[in-house]
Amino acid sequence: MEKKAEKRRIVLVPFPLQGHITPMMQLGQALNLKGFSITVALGESNGISSSQHFPGFQFITIPESLPVSVSEMEAFGPVEFLLKLNNTIEASFKECISQLLIQQGNDIACIIYDDLLYFCEAAAKEFKIPSIIFSTTSATHKVCCCVLSKLNAEKFLIDMEDTDLQNKVVENLHPVSFKDLPIRGFGPLERFLVLCREISNKRSACGAIINTASCLESSSLTLMQQEFGIPVYPLGPLHITASTRSSLLEEDRSCIEWLNIQKPRSVIYISMGSIFEMETKEVSEVANGLGDSNQPFLWVIRPGSKPLPEEVSKMVSEKGFVVKWAPQKEVLAHPAVGGFWSHCGWNSTMESIAEGVPMICRPFDGEQKLNALYIESVWRIGILLQDEVERGEVERAVKRLIVDDEGAGMRERALVLKEKLNASVRSGGSSYDSLNELVNYLKTEQK
Ligand code: UDP
Repeated sequence: MEKKAEKRRIVLVPFPLQGHITPMMQLGQALNLKGFSITVALGESNGISSSQHFPGFQFITIPESLPVSVSEMEAFGPVEFLLKLNNTIEASFKECISQLLIQQGNDIACIIYDDLLYFCEAAAKEFKIPSIIFSTTSATHKVCCCVLSKLNAEKFLIDMEDTDLQNKVVENLHPVSFKDLPIRGFGPLERFLVLCREISNKRSACGAIINTASCLESSSLTLMQQEFGIPVYPLGPLHITASTRSSLLEEDRSCIEWLNIQKPRSVIYISMGSIFEMETKEVSEVANGLGDSNQPFLWVIRPGSKPLPEEVSKMVSEKGFVVKWAPQKEVLAHPAVGGFWSHCGWNSTMESIAEGVPMICRPFDGEQKLNALYIESVWRIGILLQDEVERGEVERAVKRLIVDDEGAGMRERALVLKEKLNASVRSGGSSYDSLNELVNYLKTEQK
């Protein structure tokens, strides 16, 4: 009897925070469906329960000296944390791969790693395994990192004192101006630029996968391709191609029952993603503004976040519904949801567009601000709230989005984008074709 051909193995190395794990696991699922075996390499402190969420995936542990957690990153500052992590973990990852090669009879088709974890490249090079960079942010953000990687921190800071230069559009990247470059929230610029250089350095990688679609940012993808000089595979949105249960927190489905009894397109869904949280003063203004708007709202307040201020908590429980963690994609797909008050993380942005839901943008850091700029000014499917917000502004923003003609226009444009985004992952679509190109490459390379 003929021996059944072994599936080729792909090693995935995700950065173990929610917004990075989810798309990497979706990629793993998509490649698994195309006939590859999947091994996920994670540090010891990762929060994932493997057997429960990802049947069929093999999990291996990279012994690590720095546990990846939000509190650890806050203690060091994200930039120093990432630089240190990459320096200290390289040797133990090599050891993991060497063990795996022995087990797998030397057949690893590729190592695909989160772009924050560039230490993986050293093992790939040593064992002559092809490697591919995986980016969980937008192509525009990747291009901005390349632009930043070429700057001199001292000169840039002096240049930025000139308002004309602040407002100058970055070459080929309209509407992004120099003041929009995502540098805030990462500590001293000089150190951040060191990290940008590391992340933008493709080393010996043979390609870059990015969770975006050409209908969203075709010119940024062209620029990214030029900057990287290796094949770029835009496969997004991966959450449509392959759904996985990758929530690190338990989803509270009771909100779906609550949504079921709300009027169509009436509810504002509020979530700041998996890391960030609003200041108490802002929570109070947002709650009061939502209350004044008389629109129902569903609010995610994660475990460990500051509790709702006492003066608004009774009103919130009467007019709204609070959960610790929502089944977000299902919520956004629900007919009762009319708008998404979001911090504009890239996953949330794509999930919202993929359901045609317009947004109120309240970004915290640089990358989110870039996404918000695109949501408001390029795709014109949302309202950006800047600086301090007060309740009257919140009420007006909610009415503009849910009640006024302005919001109806945004919803119409969001629905057009929804169609395009969904078409991109169907047969003949750009992301669908890109995935097949990647699979062909992985199946033929170095067999
Ligand atoms: N999410 C969720 N339930 C929630 C809040 C968020 O499932 O109650 C998911 C959301 O669907 C998205 C991810 O968490 O996939 C957040 O990623 P994003 O890139 O938007 O933000 P980050 O958490 O990285 O800041």
